[in-house]
Amino acid sequence: MRLVRFSADGGERIGIEAPEGIFDLSAAWAERTGRRLHMEEAVGLPATARELLESGRGRPELWTAAGAPLLAPLRPGKIIAIGRNYKDHASEQALDPTLEPVVFAKFTNSVIGPGEAIVRPAFVTEMDYEAELGVVIGRRARRVPLERALEYVGAYTCLHDVSARDLQFADKVGDKQWVRGKSLDTFCPLGPALVTSDEIPDPGTLRIECILNGEVVQSASTADLIFSVPYLVSYLSTLFTLEPGDVIATGTPGGVGHFRNPPLYMKGGDEVSVVIERVGTLTNPVVDT
Ligand code: ZN
Repeated sequence: MRLVRFSADGGERIGIEAPEGIFDLSAAWAERTGRRLHMEEAVGLPATARELLESGRGRPELWTAAGAPLLAPLRPGKIIAIGRNYKDHASEQALDPTLEPVVFAKFTNSVIGPGEAIVRPAFVTEMDYEAELGVVIGRRARRVPLERALEYVGAYTCLHDVSARDLQFADKVGDKQWVRGKSLDTFCPLGPALVTSDEIPDPGTLRIECILNGEVVQSASTADLIFSVPYLVSYLSTLFTLEPGDVIATGTPGGVGHFRNPPLYMKGGDEVSVVIERVGTLTNPVVDT
């Protein structure tokens, strides 16, 4: 099931993408419960969402044209990002794979939806791309054992960990502080849909690519993750409680622009896509201010 957020009649709604168009899950949910639906709830209750979809098949008022403008699928409570989690991305920086995940944060002001512009402020000269598999938590997770970790994943999505390398590598207190260069407004495109985890029983076998102006600049498989999705959910849940709707950015493969010779950075007029097998294609234009 592909959960989306879209605008209709001046408001925001949660829907399910289907061949017929977009099913208005918000309306069906309100009719059933008398309450407003939040995306974290929809991700955690896929069976209810599917049942409402099936019972709404014959009701035209619950369907919208497939071309309805999509918004960022959710505003996460927190975005937990993982650094250096693909073997080739660690080796392009001449780094040994770490023994424990490198954990950092992206502030949620950075979230934008499909088709929205990634904005490069004039003070950023080294804006880089990072295609990542986004893991959306479906159930509250605290100290979850590895073998049960996937039960706490509600959905997967494409996540773009846009990175201002000049800011990122200027912050060298202790080892490194990455939050500043990773959290600028518009630096976390998400979407276009949240694909519920029942459709992707094994997140460790997905092709992942980044395409910049039509050229494939990153191409890998999530099989190359150093720390797998279940490992990350289990590990992070021992550090802090993961809430429904929290998002884990699982790291990016090799091929980023900063470590190329010559470097390749994004600039106004570019178009960039994160493409993940069975999850979707997230495309955003880039503008300079
Ligand atoms: Zn990243």
